[in-house]
Amino acid sequence: MRLSRYFLPVLKETPADATIASHRYMLRAGMIKQNSAGIYTWLPLGHRVLKKIEQIVREEQNKAGAIEMLMPTIQSADLWRETGRYDAYGPEMLRITDRHDREMLFGPTNEDMITDVFRSFVRSYKDLPKMLYHIQWKFRDETRPRFGVMRGREFLMKDTYSFDLTKEDAVKSYNKMFTAYLNTFARLGIKAVPMKADTGPIGGDLSHEFVILAESGESEVFCHRDLVEMAPPGDVDFDGDLSHIFDERTSLYAATEEMHDAEEFAKIPEDKQLSARGIEVGHIFYFGDKYSAPMNATVMDSNGKPQNVMMGSYGIGVSRLVGGIIEACHDENGIVWPKSVSPFGVGIINLNLKDEDCGIAATDFYEKCQAAGLDPLYDDSNDRGGVKFSRMDLIGLPYQVVIGPRGLKEGIVEVKDRATGERQNLSPDAALNLLI
Ligand code: ATP
Ligand code: MG
Ligand code: MG
Ligand code: MG
Repeated sequence: MRLSRYFLPVLKETPADATIASHRYMLRAGMIKQNSAGIYTWLPLGHRVLKKIEQIVREEQNKAGAIEMLMPTIQSADLWRETGRYDAYGPEMLRITDRHDREMLFGPTNEDMITDVFRSFVRSYKDLPKMLYHIQWKFRDETRPRFGVMRGREFLMKDTYSFDLTKEDAVKSYNKMFTAYLNTFARLGIKAVPMKADTGPIGGDLSHEFVILAESGESEVFCHRDLVEMAPPGDVDFDGDLSHIFDERTSLYAATEEMHDAEEFAKIPEDKQLSARGIEVGHIFYFGDKYSAPMNATVMDSNGKPQNVMMGSYGIGVSRLVGGIIEACHDENGIVWPKSVSPFGVGIINLNLKDEDCGIAATDFYEKCQAAGLDPLYDDSNDRGGVKFSRMDLIGLPYQVVIGPRGLKEGIVEVKDRATGERQNLSPDAALNLLI
């Protein structure tokens, strides 16, 4: 992409109402624009990152055996009346009346709807287990939307639902998602710790939140330090026994504020005790027949007897993660994207647009990067060098390649590693090799 043809509305001023780094940088880097409280337009740069995160989440869900589908954003109130949640959900639910005076709502989550889909089609235990998911916009009328996309009112969530005949099988599904989440967050370049969590209005008795440790986090969390650096499970057989992965993590103390047990925490060696602020980026629940019982979602067991299907639900805050990753990956000059989610692979800066050799060399390098699949962003704007450098730092691509007339006379370009700040002078070919 040539910057001169792109849409990257970078702000010079730091917006006054943006109090945390990710919110500031997302606004300044032209990633989002607020339309109303907690509701944002995803500008092209932000949209690229959102889609990259979404794709990694999708791939890891598919590996775990979950099947993608898509449910609507607008739901009928009737389903929520069946489970009693229409009243229970309260003012966070955006309620809508259509022209025929039918009560509708903008979905804050989909347990009720997926249970209805399931009961419409599945009759036998032989069709189980099943895990279904979608990646869809949700609306929650948060009392205090803030921190940009971290606590929006409209936000993108990946939500999976599992269906099993018995609790024992449902726990296997839970472990699949637990494992898939560890791999997902590792691929996104962040350390998310699974912590014992409250089940809240979703209900149920087994639940973990996946939490990134960050100063700006809204909740207080407590855990054993070793959990933070624990390597992800990686390639596993999702049809095999995954309980050791679950056991290994949960044998060490980790709990959110609501579930914190000071006495248990005190048993951890003092140098391993970690109490910190955290951002909830994922949340998994087992809730048995909480929805299947009131909604009559049953399957026949092997004796021909109807049984309530045992369910779980598993959310990831896809749009929250854009902010969450920036909270974990930035410095005083801007964002430092993990390679896996960076909006472009490399930034190319042409230092002198008027110099013909420079233009030829930069264009040539840009085209070679494109051909190599590096997804380059080529700054071919008329701006001053200083403006180009600080903009490139702000948007945080992993590598910058600076092409100027002086270096070119000696046959070199400069490659800067955004994370370490390390600079190398290399021939264009050597630079390309380094990037591939
Ligand atoms: P929170 O405690 O932050 O309000 P939650 O516990 O209400 O979140 P869940 O119902 O567990 O959220 O939803 C699953 C995931 O959706 C959360 O783990 C989070 O990553 C994301 N999420 C929830 N609310 C928001 C929001 N207002 N804006 C962005 N993402 C959100
Ligand atoms: Mg909430
Ligand atoms: Mg929560
Ligand atoms: Mg939650």
